[in-house]
Amino acid sequence: MFKKIPLHTQIIIGLVLGLIFGLVVIKTAIPNSFTLDYIKPFGTIFINGLKMIAVPLVLASLIVGVSNLGDISKLSRIGGKTIGTYLVTTVLAVTIGLVLVNVFKPGKSLPPETRENLMSLYEGDAGSRVGQAAELQKQSPLQPLVDIVPDNVFRATTDNAAMLQVVFFAILVGIALLQIPKGKAAPVIAFFDGMNDVIIQIVNYIMMIAPFGVFALMASLIVEIAGENPDSAVQLLMALLKYSLVVLGGLFTMILVVYPLILMAFTKVKYKDFFKAIRPAQLLAFSTSSSSATLPVTMKQVEEELGVSEEVSSFVLPLGATVNMDGTSLYQGVAAVFIAQALGMELTLTQQLMIVLTATLASIGSAGVPGAGLIMLIIVLESIGVPAAGIALIIAPDRILDMFRTVVNVTGDATVCTIVASTEGELPDGLIRKSNPLTPNE
Ligand code: ASP
Repeated sequence: MFKKIPLHTQIIIGLVLGLIFGLVVIKTAIPNSFTLDYIKPFGTIFINGLKMIAVPLVLASLIVGVSNLGDISKLSRIGGKTIGTYLVTTVLAVTIGLVLVNVFKPGKSLPPETRENLMSLYEGDAGSRVGQAAELQKQSPLQPLVDIVPDNVFRATTDNAAMLQVVFFAILVGIALLQIPKGKAAPVIAFFDGMNDVIIQIVNYIMMIAPFGVFALMASLIVEIAGENPDSAVQLLMALLKYSLVVLGGLFTMILVVYPLILMAFTKVKYKDFFKAIRPAQLLAFSTSSSSATLPVTMKQVEEELGVSEEVSSFVLPLGATVNMDGTSLYQGVAAVFIAQALGMELTLTQQLMIVLTATLASIGSAGVPGAGLIMLIIVLESIGVPAAGIALIIAPDRILDMFRTVVNVTGDATVCTIVASTEGELPDGLIRKSNPLTPNE
């Protein structure tokens, strides 16, 4: 009976019940420690499960994917399209954010006393993040390139943050498999192929507990945000409501207007079908705030529900989870201008163009984990001469906005993946749905 409810509906139920539970806890005498000690661990177990599977999944599916391509020219063509489309969507996203924040000017209406309060309240927090960003800035501008090549591949596979290094190594193995004698390559490919199926089966197991994991994540998030003083948390959020609405407006524009238009222009996939297929990934992105943790599910959904080939998805999606963050770059554009407005600084057109450039680069450099976008925002601020301590102004609603921008990040990756698959001649009729027992269709 429970099995009959589609997975995404089960996740939504978990999400809503988690929110309600969290609200009940902060409004009643139930101590917060109960949620943090006995409910939150189940959310952590769920996220750990997803993260546990990410590196083996990328390794196995990319090796099989590349070795199935047949020749290397196809790989470079897919690579070129992927990176080009990722860049275009990111620049589009920052531009939309900048237009909205310049039109609505949310920073101009922030009362000076609220500004002072926020600055003093979050000074320490902002300081520690400025420190983290300073560490990043000490590096050579070419450091991101250096970071792609692991000095020890086994160490790279033990660190989820080193996903690009794993991608790099897996592509090399795949290419080498294409070039050695077939007889020698076949058993290696067969091994990774079997491994790949094993891992996908494990993703299925993890998804069975998704509704409970999401419940735990939401309940503990509410309790943590509200902390000991729920009323002041609500007041702060209200003061920053206009800013938050501008960020949300931009994010919804991406999901409801930009991606559907791009999909319509380049594929035969109907946006409704696309949306339905990736809904579980979007819900997980929302509840985990991490594109990396969501990656196994994004891959599973585009392959099983949209019919994208493993060759394409195993290359496009892991790359996207680390470098393509449309939601994050849009948010960075809005936040940078908001802070400048609130501090009474006028930004010139050149400075705003600088934001497009640095927010694009910063979103490429942001890791797909909660809060990464906020740290990289500091680099954007410094490039236009706005004091980095200004992030104190926007820390309060950041955790919530992170959830929404991660949904956009993941949707952007899935959109580009679908486009690349379509332009490679896959999905000729718009939708080829493979059977998937765990996500019954409505
Ligand atoms: N949480 C985001 C992600 O994982 C990154 C960020 O904007 O903080 O996609």
